[in-house]
Amino acid sequence: MNRSSQLFKRACQVIPGGVNSPVRAFRNVGGEPFFVQSAQGSHITDVDGRELIDYVGTWGPAILGHAPQTVLQAVHQAINHGLGFGIPTPAEVDMAETIVSWVPSVQKVRMVNSGTEATMSAIRLARGYTHRSKILKFEGCYHGHVDSLLVSAGSGALTFGEPDSAGVPREFAQLTLTVPYNDQEAVSQVFAQYGNDIATVIVEPYPGNAGFYLPRNGFLEFLRSITEQYDSLLIFDEVMTGFRVAPGGVQQIHGISPDLTCMGKIIGGGLPVGAFGGRSDIMDCISPLGPVYQAGTLSGNPVAMEAGLAQLHELKRLDGYARLEQLGALLEEGMKQAMQSSGHSFTFYRSGSMFGLFFTEAPVYNLQDALKADKCLYKKYFWSMLEQGIYMAPSPFETGFISLAHTEEDIEATCRAAEKVFKSL
Ligand SMILES: *Cc1c(COP(=O)(O)O)cnc(C)c1O
Repeated sequence: MNRSSQLFKRACQVIPGGVNSPVRAFRNVGGEPFFVQSAQGSHITDVDGRELIDYVGTWGPAILGHAPQTVLQAVHQAINHGLGFGIPTPAEVDMAETIVSWVPSVQKVRMVNSGTEATMSAIRLARGYTHRSKILKFEGCYHGHVDSLLVSAGSGALTFGEPDSAGVPREFAQLTLTVPYNDQEAVSQVFAQYGNDIATVIVEPYPGNAGFYLPRNGFLEFLRSITEQYDSLLIFDEVMTGFRVAPGGVQQIHGISPDLTCMGKIIGGGLPVGAFGGRSDIMDCISPLGPVYQAGTLSGNPVAMEAGLAQLHELKRLDGYARLEQLGALLEEGMKQAMQSSGHSFTFYRSGSMFGLFFTEAPVYNLQDALKADKCLYKKYFWSMLEQGIYMAPSPFETGFISLAHTEEDIEATCRAAEKVFKSL
């Protein structure tokens, strides 16, 4: 038995399912996870000494690649001053100023410890600000494991939500309305019926948690205008897309100002960080200025702030987004060529360094479309790529990430491997 298997066996005795977050258990591709020994740049080495080109990138944070020198140095420097104090430190101010200057719609921001905390707090704030209780979300959009957001109603029906998870009371879920992503008509109908009770619409502006797909022309603009019409707030959950598709996220690309924005992943530089921010008048409703309570013992932790700041500054210094676009385009072209030469035309989407591959020839606009992709083919693809030293996400419902540490050679090797795999499907 190899070391990963031994560790997984031990883990299963003392950790539910052997993992601290379910997707890591590889259930969506069958089999067992590998355990990581170390990671550097675009490569991960597992505990059995196998080296892999990584397209999971810590599920998003590792935009510079693994263990970037600048971030490690910033962490080393920060820990010399102590690990955290629960009292303000200068790094929090630097971080807030940096976020405000990068993300167009954010005037004030509060730091938290995860994306889940960010969305949970943003929803509470939206409800507190509007004095309304219903929220609208989209099927297949994931916003962390917040009770009221673990809801995704059945196939396109305009029904009240049923919880996706045991332990979420139906009464909570009933405050969450869900409609298919990219469906303006469904959104209009829900607003016509419940508009004056809807505190907020929360959306992943580019959905990345049911595979990766994109908004139809005008969809995000439509969400902005209908929420304004009904005095509801618009929340962009840019935990994944923020600082990734552009310095200012999807809102910068589309020139849309959401009222609130949720952030995470990249801004922690690999450490546990989230944030939510937006219009000053809304953010000022948070305690201690206003009546909406929100707090955190470890929030704004100085080591995490320095790690995140170092990552953001390095991205800017390297003109990272232009380079990521180059690498992304190279991967897209290579993957499409690999499909063509193997007689397939699967659906592939990309924005900058984010990509999604669906084993279907039909376009994907929403969760239902994504679910039509062939899961068995994905499974085969995943294990065959891994055999060739390439680690794609262990689930068809995840986004692929390229980092600044990926080289042209990495991408070319990946496309060559994909071509072989596509031919075998
Ligand atoms: C990852 C993610 C979250 C949750 O963040 P955690 O740090 O895992 O709690 C929320 N929203 C989106 C869009 C995400 O991708």
